[in-house]
Amino acid sequence: AVTRRPLMAGNWKMNLNHFEANLLLQKLAASLTEKQLTDVECVVLPPFTDLRTVQTAVDGDKLLIGYGAQDLSAHQSGAYTGEISGAMLAKLGCSYVVVGHSERRAYHHEDDALVNAKVTAALGSGITPILCVGEGLDVRDEQRHVAHCQDQLTAGLKGLSAEQVTKVVIAYEPVWAIGTGKTATPEDAQEVCGAVRERLAELYDQATADQVRVLYGGSVKASNVAAIMAKPDVDGALVGGASLDAEEFAQICRFP
Ligand code: PEP
Repeated sequence: AVTRRPLMAGNWKMNLNHFEANLLLQKLAASLTEKQLTDVECVVLPPFTDLRTVQTAVDGDKLLIGYGAQDLSAHQSGAYTGEISGAMLAKLGCSYVVVGHSERRAYHHEDDALVNAKVTAALGSGITPILCVGEGLDVRDEQRHVAHCQDQLTAGLKGLSAEQVTKVVIAYEPVWAIGTGKTATPEDAQEVCGAVRERLAELYDQATADQVRVLYGGSVKASNVAAIMAKPDVDGALVGGASLDAEEFAQICRFP
């Protein structure tokens, strides 16, 4: 059987300045032992403006904490005012980048084609994309959520080889559970995370699908993480609000 190292990724969204970022990182590192940080991969996803601060703290103190960005440009360089390329993120030591978060899809009109271009751009820069899929409440009410997420997945991965897809992380984030305090049940999380893996096996093969980490995201907290992580196809969590509290996020990383 394949063992997939659990991944806990904290999406800070548009929160925390340079000082607050430093403070949170120090507290987080102090709350977790070397063994815990080896067993579970702990990653923070700060705003672009905090990346240098995080890089300095992680490199300077040799923290076993990974980091990445919340978005990137689909383009490599050029006249794209306000955009940040994968190469720029790589230069700052980013290992991860979130792609297709529901907030980007909703507020910045990112469609599947753009999400696919960003996934490809991230891989081209040697950065692991965390590709987000998830349904809104209307789709869930009509019980179309599994097909919806599988279709977003297929579109997001278009053109990728099996070797490339093993470097991608998928995050299932039901939009109705993000920032609402409404967590999907562990069974809801398993249903779609399992369906994501099934689609990966159809698109590639079972061995490839078994290597890909699939996260759940949506109001994950220290109090509910263990039940969600007990499900066979859930390999970690993408955490928003609860990642802004060092002790809470440390507890999430200590889930086992
Ligand atoms: C998110 O935005 O990725 C997220 C899961 O947020 P929250 O944990 O606050 O619901």
